[in-house]
Amino acid sequence: MEELCFSEAAARLGLDNIPSASIVANLGLVAALMEKIRALLDGKPIVVHSGYRSVLVNKAVGGVGTSAHCLGLACDFVCPRFGPPEEVAMAILKSEIDYDQLILEYGWVHIGLAQEGRLCRREALTKRSASAEYEVGIRG
Ligand SMILES: [Zn+2]
Repeated sequence: MEELCFSEAAARLGLDNIPSASIVANLGLVAALMEKIRALLDGKPIVVHSGYRSVLVNKAVGGVGTSAHCLGLACDFVCPRFGPPEEVAMAILKSEIDYDQLILEYGWVHIGLAQEGRLCRREALTKRSASAEYEVGIRG
């Protein structure tokens, strides 16, 4: 939970990044998801880049306005001892793990869950740079 709420940008810019109770509940779902992913990745340590982002923090890091990070429903991470982000994303894609969005980003993997009451879309995308369009599928 601590890892999911820590924001380097928030600390640097002095912005609030304390989640509300409903967001903490969402983060609990993400934490459980990340445990499943760690098991899938042979128990190798996962390094969280970003979990929860308050609206202000999300704006500061240039996140999209509708970001699942703001709802505490997403996690950006790497698992270097398992492999590069494309291998991590492929392993998740081939697994039975349920997710709303899996995005191979430029240097990390984004995984997001659906809001309560919505179905997980199991959508897989690749984004090769900050300015690139999303491509369908996981493309190394
Ligand atoms: Zn993300």
